[in-house]
Amino acid sequence: MLVTGREILEAADRGGYGVGAFNIHTLEMLGPVLEVAEELKSPILLQFTYGSIQFIGAEAIGVLGGHLARRSPVPVAIHLDHGAGFEQSVTAIRSGFTSVMIDASRLPLEENIAATRRVVELAHTAGVSVEAEIGRVGGTEDHVTVNEWEASLTLPEEAERFAAETGVDYLAVAFGTAHGFYKGEPRLDLDRLAEVDRRVSVPLVMHGGSGVPHTLVRQAIERGVRKVNVATELKDAWARAVREILAVQPEEIDPRKLLAPAREAVKHVVRQKIQVVGSAGRG
Ligand SMILES: [Zn+2]
Repeated sequence: MLVTGREILEAADRGGYGVGAFNIHTLEMLGPVLEVAEELKSPILLQFTYGSIQFIGAEAIGVLGGHLARRSPVPVAIHLDHGAGFEQSVTAIRSGFTSVMIDASRLPLEENIAATRRVVELAHTAGVSVEAEIGRVGGTEDHVTVNEWEASLTLPEEAERFAAETGVDYLAVAFGTAHGFYKGEPRLDLDRLAEVDRRVSVPLVMHGGSGVPHTLVRQAIERGVRKVNVATELKDAWARAVREILAVQPEEIDPRKLLAPAREAVKHVVRQKIQVVGSAGRG
């Protein structure tokens, strides 16, 4: 069934588990990701950056994704990841997305609040739920000093004010995770995450979930994280599988044969993540 992100994440909050939000970069990834959610009876968020929306087509996502979600036995939300402004939210909502992220975290707090509130008003009118971010989830930890690292993290008192003034449905917290792969073990500030969770009643979101050790993901879920984003690991698995079959079978030209291993590789990652976040059997 096609539901809002809020429905999925509030159920996760009541049950104390996390739910995977998987980035779909090409339409070919949609089927395998959904198949695994159904196989494991797990709720799921299918998420698309605006770049992926432009690549695949907003209408194609809305029509095909919406149809597959509606006839699926598990709760599915279709989510805009890192929406950059009001217009992108409008595009997603008009295309049938049931969840949008407005990422104005680069802006000063007051402006982030104003931009987020504007999207919340629009989305709630349309029955769509909203994620926003406070603090900055970094792109990579390379060349970042400890002071810069700390300065980018979410301040619990700001998170409390932000949630209250925006009416956002779930909140992305910067507590040390980063987009892309990590060099070594990521440094996570789990005490900060717990403090944000104490002050904020809405479910929390972890960006940069790729490559975070399973024990740390579970510790973050114990401290209020309900939405766990996974993008890089899916891309990596997809690319490795494609590279491998092209190397082994250089004469093969059938796209179905060339993409079959990539589909399986994606399914493997999703299966593992759903087990780690604890959403299997919750759909
Ligand atoms: Zn992100």
